[in-house]
Amino acid sequence: MDLDSLYQDVILDHYKNPHHKGVPFGDFVVHHVNPSCGDEVTLSVTVKENVISELVWSGVGCSISQASTSIMSDLVLGKTADEAFSILNQFTELMQSKGSAVGDEAVLEDAIALSGVSKFPARVKCALLGWMAFKDAAIQNGVQA
Ligand code: ZN
Repeated sequence: MDLDSLYQDVILDHYKNPHHKGVPFGDFVVHHVNPSCGDEVTLSVTVKENVISELVWSGVGCSISQASTSIMSDLVLGKTADEAFSILNQFTELMQSKGSAVGDEAVLEDAIALSGVSKFPARVKCALLGWMAFKDAAIQNGVQA
């Protein structure tokens, strides 16, 4: 099995069995859309003592947008706000690298499977949608960007 098909399996697995999907709740439910593809993510986070203690999202759209949101939720849950934003910044850099960066698998874990998306500018917004929703919700919860 080559790397591309391995990555494809990771993405499809998250798409078919999304993690932390549910009904967002609370005072700061955010709704982000990617009109160019029709992707939507609704998301809420709970921040307790500067730790991302809860994250719930729902969404519709392409496999990249939905899998990326599932992967993001695994990565940021239980992390401090600083750690979560560091991961977010590394993923954003990877997505904006136009295929030139490989990413640090020790930090990005399953998100590495999305690295190939950076070669396709039209799909980068799909991959970043859930991450931007998380950033927005965290900031609304008082986390400093
Ligand atoms: Zn999409």
